[in-house]
Amino acid sequence: MVLLSRNRRKATTQPQPQVICKEHKLMVVGEGGVGKLALLIQFIQRHFSPEYEPSHQDSFRKRLVVDDESVLVDIYSTHGNEISGSLLDHISQVCVGFLLVYSITQRSTFNAIRTHHEHICRIKEQDASAPIIIVGNKSDLEAKRVVSMEEGRDLATELGCTFIETSAKQDVNVEEAFIDVVRRIPPSNKALLI
Ligand code: GDP
Repeated sequence: MVLLSRNRRKATTQPQPQVICKEHKLMVVGEGGVGKLALLIQFIQRHFSPEYEPSHQDSFRKRLVVDDESVLVDIYSTHGNEISGSLLDHISQVCVGFLLVYSITQRSTFNAIRTHHEHICRIKEQDASAPIIIVGNKSDLEAKRVVSMEEGRDLATELGCTFIETSAKQDVNVEEAFIDVVRRIPPSNKALLI
């Protein structure tokens, strides 16, 4: 896997918040082809392209305003297969929130969510409060759907996660998915007021 981590600061058009928070590291996890990169590009750069070339930039970064707090998020993901398991584990360790992504058009990617969830829980043993959202991506491909919304929701309930369906292509619920995770980061992991 190739670690994707792109540094790209984006100006916000929203009013200046009263409180500045420190940076949060998030991780987007899922099988290849589910749309992790497409979700990130849509979230950070607000566009969708059917094919993305891996780039040399190494960190996805975005400033958000969530509930009047300014939050800087650094987002890590995996793409391809050139990252070692131990490096991935290390990154997961420092991340404070996770998006577990599957494609609603591919059941094997949905079945893999349980394994990804177990893996994160094992790594975050000391910090069981790290918020996790299960994301069913490619909701625009309704005709090719093989995983129902109820199945996604039921799995999320069983695993104690939140759930959302997204379309990176049509920009449906993309920002909402990331904001849900940021909003649920426990105060102990949030920054001090300055
Ligand atoms: P990754 O391997 O998980 O990072 O997946 P990619 O972001 O590279 O996406 C894999 C393929 O799925 C690409 O051809 C994308 O254009 C396509 N894709 C990603 N998200 C969506 C989506 O929401 N809808 C549709 N129709 N295609 C998508």
